[in-house]
Formats: sequence, C-alpha cells, structure tokens
Amino acid sequence: MSALEKIIIDEISKKGCMPLDEYMALCLGHPQHGYYMTRDPFGRAGDFITAPEISQTFGEMIGAWLMDTWQKMGSPAKFALVECGPGRGTLMRDILRVAKLLEPFKAAAKVYLAEMSPVLMEIQKETLKDETINWIVDIKDLPSTMPVIFIGNEFLDALPVKQYVMKNKQLHERVVVYRDNALQIVAQDEGGGHAEIEDGAILENSPAVELFWRQMLARIKAQTGAALFIDYGYLQKRAGDTLQAVKGHQPVSILEAPGECDLTAHVDFEMLDLIAKESGFTSQRITQGAFLRKLGIRARAETLMKNNAAKAASIANDINRLIEPDRMGGLFKVIAVTSPTLTAEGFA
Ligand code: SAH
Repeated sequence: MSALEKIIIDEISKKGCMPLDEYMALCLGHPQHGYYMTRDPFGRAGDFITAPEISQTFGEMIGAWLMDTWQKMGSPAKFALVECGPGRGTLMRDILRVAKLLEPFKAAAKVYLAEMSPVLMEIQKETLKDETINWIVDIKDLPSTMPVIFIGNEFLDALPVKQYVMKNKQLHERVVVYRDNALQIVAQDEGGGHAEIEDGAILENSPAVELFWRQMLARIKAQTGAALFIDYGYLQKRAGDTLQAVKGHQPVSILEAPGECDLTAHVDFEMLDLIAKESGFTSQRITQGAFLRKLGIRARAETLMKNNAAKAASIANDINRLIEPDRMGGLFKVIAVTSPTLTAEGFA
C-alpha cells in the first residue's frame, strides 16, 4: 500500500467516508505524495500530452489573442499576464516568443505563473530562464494595481469535483469508503431533492472551479482585464460521470494507485459562462478547433511547413490533432471573458 493510500484510508476510518472532491484534491495535490507534486507527467514518456506540448502554434495563437485583447483594452503600459497551471512552461514560452512581434505588449506584460507543484515550478524556471517571471501559488497573491489577463490550458479540469447520484428523486453524494480491504465509491444516504434528472443519473459539480472562477472575475472587475481558458468539457451542461484517471496514456480506475495517476473531470463551460454574464462580463464559448482556425492556425502551419519541409508531414499531423472536430478540436472548448465594451477575437 502506498503512503498516500494509507493516509486516505486513515482519514476514511476517522470520518466514515471521503467526498470525491477531497479524494481528488489529495491525489493531485497532497504536499508530499500528490501526483503533480512529485513528477513531470507530460509527454510521450509520461502519462498524457497537452496542446502546447503537441505544437508551438497553439501558444502562438494564444499569443495573438492576447496581443489583440491587450490592444482592445487600450494598450495599458503595465498589466499582469497570469497563467494558471502552466505545466512545463511551454505555452508561456511560445506566447513570449511571438510577443516579440509587438514590443510594447511584451514590455507591458508582467508575467505571473500560478503553480502549486514545486517540481513543475523548477521545470518552468528552466523553460523560461531568459524571461522575467513571478511565481505565485494562489491568485489572491497577485498585485492589485494593474489590469490583469488570465489564461489557463487544462487547469480547470485538474480542480476537484463532487458527484451526486439521483435515487428516488433525491441527490446522494458519491463518496469514497474502505470496504472489504479496498477503496470503493458509494452513494451516501442523505441528500436534497432534484426533480429534473432521471433516477440513477450522475451529476457533477465543482465548488473548486466555481470558487476559482468567481475570485478571478472579481479581480478582473476590480482591475479591468480579460480571461481565456481552454479545457476538456461541454458547452451545455449535461448529466454524466466524467471523472477519469490516466496513467501511461491509458485509462485506469480512479481508485487504483491514488497519487500515481492523473485525475481530471470535464469542465462545465455553461456554468462558467452563466457566472461571467451574471457578473456583467461579455462571455463567449466555442470549440478549440473553431477558435484556432479563426485565429489563423492554418496559415501559420503553412509557413512552418515551408520553412521546414522535412518535418511538413508531422507539423500537419500535429495541427490536425489540435483542430479536427473528432479529436482535440472538438473535445476541447474555449471560453473568453472580457469587459462588455470589448469583443474578443476568435469567436465571431
Ligand atoms: N497548462 C499545462 C499543464 C496542464 S496540467 C499544459 O497545458 O501543458 C495542470 C497544471 O495545473 C499543472 O501545472 C498542475 O501542477 C497545476 N495545478 C493543478 N491544480 C492546481 C492548483 N490547485 N493550483 C495551482 N496549480 C494547479
């Protein structure tokens, strides 16, 4: 039994059970044994691969979006460019490379990386060693004196979710218990009523995503700015269990080897959109494929392929993986939040 499994079982024997969001938070973020706290999970040799690790054009398109948004904000002389969950720092490296095309933007951007993992922070330091970067653990530690633009790729899907199951018109929270010498998931007895969903359907929500989103929007409201988040998820809310574990690019049980597998859940973009609109922002959401195409990823790919004929086929394949509707282009969604006077590029 791993050290983390023992910690989880001890906690369950004290309290009787553990809600799924608590379980997910421990698996990913336990200070000593959490998945992200102990390793670099990315790439072919790791457990999964993300868009910025697949193609430099991903970061370049986000860079183009940022420069456009900054100009629409009136080109402020100083602003905080905040990336949440920056992984290896690859996305920010690609953004800052294209930012050289617009020197006043590059000079204005004070870069903040919000990262909880000391291991990944070291890798980000290496990737971005030629840049001036500030690290924070929580967005509450950002300066309050300048406009702020937030970005994040596959950050929200790493925040813990809760699950409920409908039985006899009651919502029952799904929790982790320890029975017959094994971790198991069961639906708890208590719960509130919920008439719309059929019995047995699983519902998810993420108080952690909601809290983060509200805190972020409050910052943008107070300091002006914008946000762009990209993730696995659905544009319209739906029922269903999307909590998944991946190890070595293969799906595994979420209870197998806690702390050794990546855990993610689909992001509810409808909820993000509703909260943003309720708070007075303009909010737009679209598939990743449509977003990247509108920002000109194909033209950029053509140039790269011309400049590197030997790699043209692999460049084309990587771009297709990012934009095709039955691959990441359709699975991943993008949401942009701006103050009502701005129209974000890439959505119309
Ligand atoms: N954006 C990167 C990495 C995605 S993986 C990419 O696209 O490749 C998720 C990232 O979020 C990791 O860097 C992880 O350490 C970080 N992370 C997860 N939960 C976090 C939290 N609660 N606070 C800060 N960072 C977190």
